[in-house]
Amino acid sequence: MRYLPLHFDLQGRTVLVVGGGELARRKVDLLLRSGAGIELVAPEISDELFSMLTSHTIHQANYESSRVNNQALVVAATNNPAVNEAVSIDARARNIPVNVVDAPELSTVTFPAIIDRDPLIVSVGSSATSPVLTRYVRQLIEQTLPEGLSAVASYLGQVRDRLKEVFPDIEMRRRQTENFLESPGYSAAESGDFKAAERYLFDKENESLAGEVYVVGAGPGDPDLLTLKALQLMQKADVVLYDNLVSPGVLDRVRRDARMEFVGKRSGYKSTSQEHINDMLVRLANEGHRVLRLKGGDPFVFGRGGEEIIALIQQQIPFQVVPGITAALGCATYAGIPLTHRDLSQSVRFVTGHPKDGEVDLPWQELTHENETIVFYMGLSGLSSICQQLVKHGRRHDTPAAIISKGTTPEQQVLKGTLETLPGLVARTQILSPTIVIVGDVVNFADQVSS
Ligand code: SAH
Repeated sequence: MRYLPLHFDLQGRTVLVVGGGELARRKVDLLLRSGAGIELVAPEISDELFSMLTSHTIHQANYESSRVNNQALVVAATNNPAVNEAVSIDARARNIPVNVVDAPELSTVTFPAIIDRDPLIVSVGSSATSPVLTRYVRQLIEQTLPEGLSAVASYLGQVRDRLKEVFPDIEMRRRQTENFLESPGYSAAESGDFKAAERYLFDKENESLAGEVYVVGAGPGDPDLLTLKALQLMQKADVVLYDNLVSPGVLDRVRRDARMEFVGKRSGYKSTSQEHINDMLVRLANEGHRVLRLKGGDPFVFGRGGEEIIALIQQQIPFQVVPGITAALGCATYAGIPLTHRDLSQSVRFVTGHPKDGEVDLPWQELTHENETIVFYMGLSGLSSICQQLVKHGRRHDTPAAIISKGTTPEQQVLKGTLETLPGLVARTQILSPTIVIVGDVVNFADQVSS
């Protein structure tokens, strides 16, 4: 992170603005909203600036170094690069933060794009790479922000001290406030009915102390494949239990201050047993935490989510399960393979290819329908055996087959062959886990179209 975002309290402090035209006007407008006192210097000053600054200081003169003098912030907004540079040098020499409009290389601070729902401010910066992108992102965020945030923020500001008295424990206060934000109290505060809001925010009886567990599907890797519900709960949880299949990009979207617990398998370490994970979920929820159990793909597809919720039901812990995009769906789509197709495949089966005692033990005679696509999870180590058994039980040896490694991530790799050739191809290539194997005529579907 090249730039640290800070929100600057300029109330009653002085800002030196150099420039008298449109660029300066825009900055002055913003600075006035923050309550700063303005000292403006420029040889020519627009009428508009004059009328905006009637109760501030204006020097109608050329800029001189001595103007930089103990101000809280200096802004250079002239269209003369030499003047802008001189202002920057002078401010930096005196250790005063300086912004030069459109010249990040001369600035020590930059103005972010903002969404102003005063007292709530959202600021967006792109580390001076692209102001257009910054504004675009601001617009995306603006669309998703609930209405009435300003009123809710004002209300929470008003009751902040009292909330501290009533709920002295910081964790308890945070949960109480989070619960309030999802209660009908939010809309009450939004519409200015602070009395009704009060009942929810200060209600000690509400369930703020009861912990809960969210068993959430994190999808196959690409964070853009998370569901909105998954994202919301990822932002709400305070402890997160995750395993190998959850990609770094997804983990980045978990609330910053959540405690992260890795409960997967890492080479060289013993993996955490399922019983131990179940116990952890129960214990953390009983301690009052909002526990996020983040699982690759979908929690109920080869994910042992079922075992986890049994443990929660037995201990009467409230929980939610959120489906995720399972690896078969994500990988097939990102590899351009439709899992079913009117003419080629009328059904699809998800099968575990995990070998037990070195053998993949499956009801092979059920897997030989010409018009069915089969997706093998955990099929890498047993790949040769899977392909041989399918042919032995009647599938064509030239049935197309693909292996997809690290599907939907930037490292995705796809190898295509047939039941006969795929094991050899894989043996000659370095393939990284996790991988999924797709068998059926749909594998070559897209290639036929493009050739
Ligand atoms: N619950 C998960 C599956 C867990 S089993 C889901 O719904 O996707 C683990 C297996 O999932 C791996 O061995 C592999 O076969 C498959 N898998 C998970 N993510 C994958 C990915 N990004 N690319 C390829 N295969 C993946």
